[in-house]
Amino acid sequence: MDFVGIDKFSLLDYDENVSVVLFAPICNYRCPFCHNGDSVLGSHFSIPFDEILSFLKTRVGLIDAVVVSGGEPTLMDDVITKIEKIKELGFKIKLDTNGTNPDVLSELLRKNLINYIAMDIKNSEKLYPETTGVKNPQMDKIKESISIIMNSGIDYEFRTTLVAEYHSKESIEEMGELIKGAKKLFLQKFVDREGVIKKGLHPVEQVWALSYKDILANYVSNVELRGY
Ligand code: SF4
Repeated sequence: MDFVGIDKFSLLDYDENVSVVLFAPICNYRCPFCHNGDSVLGSHFSIPFDEILSFLKTRVGLIDAVVVSGGEPTLMDDVITKIEKIKELGFKIKLDTNGTNPDVLSELLRKNLINYIAMDIKNSEKLYPETTGVKNPQMDKIKESISIIMNSGIDYEFRTTLVAEYHSKESIEEMGELIKGAKKLFLQKFVDREGVIKKGLHPVEQVWALSYKDILANYVSNVELRGY
């Protein structure tokens, strides 16, 4: 299974690292606020992996990291092999995931292939179906991934895109319970863009985002706003 997109130069996706970002072709969620609607809903475009590797070889010494993003990259049948080949070139690897595939996550960690994980925490358990656009968002797997990440010993972040139509004080409080004891959470501002799955959604206003941050500080050591 091939990646469907590449950002050849990013300063925004992995802390201070200069990175290349790769986009996976599929996802098992349909988050209404997703910006990658084209790939999530089925892209006809794909980039042969050999071409990606050839390009990455030209970037050795020029960039620090490769971000494996999506869609949901852990659903790619050969994602472990692909990450292995990228890692062999000497890059740090950041994985973006929705957390529905704890088995692949565990295997990547066991093989020491990733340096940083960013996992989405969409909402409270009760509102996960609505916020992910699927009837069964597999909460058992989400909880397993949260636990794996928090006990992995590698650097990580949880992140939540705040959307006025889906988040409230109550849902945020309940979401805190899901990640109690975590070390880092980013609350990201939703930006309405071309390609979003559902039109007409709104960002959470800053004053509310700040109050959500205060609530979540009771559960997570470091809560920060992103994009506000
Ligand atoms: S936001 Fe992430 S998890 Fe949700 S549909 Fe888009 S790619 Fe999938």
